[in-house]
Amino acid sequence: MTISIWQDELNKPREKYDVVIVGGGIMGAGSAYWLSKRGLRVCIVESQYIASGASGRNAGFLLRGIHSYYNESVKQYGRDNASMLFRFTEENVRLIGEFAKRISHDFNYEPSGSYLLACSLEELHDLEESHQLMIEDGFDVEYLKQDPLDRSYYGALYNSCDGGVNPVKLVKALIAESGAQLYDGEAVMSIRQDKQLQVMTANRIIDCDKVLLATNAYSQLLESWFKERVQPIKGQILVTQPLRKRILEKVCYANYGWEYFRQLPDNRFLLGGCRQRFQDTEVGYADCTSLQVQASLESYIKDRFPEAAGVPIDYRWSGIMAFTQDGLPLVGELERLPNVYFAVGCNGHGFSYGLNLSKLLVEVAVAGKDAGIFSSRRLFQIAN
Ligand SMILES: Cc1cc2nc3c(=O)[nH]c(=O)nc-3n(C[C@H](O)[C@H](O)[C@H](O)COP(=O)(O)OP(=O)(O)OC[C@H]3O[C@@H](n4cnc5c(N)ncnc54)[C@H](O)[C@@H]3O)c2cc1C
Repeated sequence: MTISIWQDELNKPREKYDVVIVGGGIMGAGSAYWLSKRGLRVCIVESQYIASGASGRNAGFLLRGIHSYYNESVKQYGRDNASMLFRFTEENVRLIGEFAKRISHDFNYEPSGSYLLACSLEELHDLEESHQLMIEDGFDVEYLKQDPLDRSYYGALYNSCDGGVNPVKLVKALIAESGAQLYDGEAVMSIRQDKQLQVMTANRIIDCDKVLLATNAYSQLLESWFKERVQPIKGQILVTQPLRKRILEKVCYANYGWEYFRQLPDNRFLLGGCRQRFQDTEVGYADCTSLQVQASLESYIKDRFPEAAGVPIDYRWSGIMAFTQDGLPLVGELERLPNVYFAVGCNGHGFSYGLNLSKLLVEVAVAGKDAGIFSSRRLFQIAN
């Protein structure tokens, strides 16, 4: 984003906070929550409304794990790192469960467990291998040789620690608990370094010591450094009217995550994904569904869930995820602007990382902790 000389009037009201968070999704809300525990004066600036981005447009799955199964993660990142990444997301799910118990806001937290379902013998083999490695590494996970849903899947992994939430209610609960000042409907147009940091919106200038960017897929629109490093990828979902009975108790992730589904508390059926064949076009920022992906979602229902076929569809929506080249989130500090930190690029798993990654972001920004495997310094190492 840029700002013109005409928009940059100097007589805007001036305010002062210790930390400004840009973005009101799970990462911004989680950051506000953790910062509130340190007694800092914090505001959140959100260009649209709370959870207007991916955080309000996802399936609400809380999964231990990342974009690839454990066996593939071991190959890609090494055994110790894979174990650390899965422990990190497991801890995230635990933190959200603990938050649900402690506060009065209900965000429909359901510790239902999850099935990762195999759609081919090859995927079943990957799940079996993942199970073996995970057991050796001390994870609690079950391998099911038979399809637990009896719907022509080849078998599954059962993760008892996983579950689902209402993602918008969770984001709102975190912000409410944080007590942070919220400026919504107000985009950050630019960030400057004078004697201290200045965050410019159309309505105000906010002086602060630190800025946390929780702008995910939109980051490159604010700061060009993110171009080439964080790609906006579109995902789509549909939700039917309530079915007559319950057909699913767990959140389900199938075909390496290309399809995912759950039944909501009021018996509606939610299905997302089916973008595997349309990856060239499911990119960019436009918030609109496409006939081809929605038709694929409907035919998936027909094939696997005949009880839900023909049930009127009440909602169809799209959302923008942020993908990185190596599949891991980026946490760091902008070189151009010291004291501007970021945590972006959860590769479609932001609720599996969110509360724990925002905790790490705050520790990096406020206490100088090293971001470890998530550190954006790895990009410079690759470049060199
Ligand atoms: C269809 C779909 C299904 C998904 N399903 C799941 C799932 O089940 N489980 C899971 O773990 N993950 C899932 N994800 C991924 C998950 O939703 C994201 O990883 C997560 O929500 C990212 O959160 P965030 O806070 O980083 O970004 P976002 O929620 O996108 O928030 C970024 C915010 O920044 C604001 N913003 C941007 N620029 C500015 C600016 N200049 N000034 C002020 N504000 C600004 C935006 O308006 C936005 O609200 C899914 C994503 C999609 C799209």
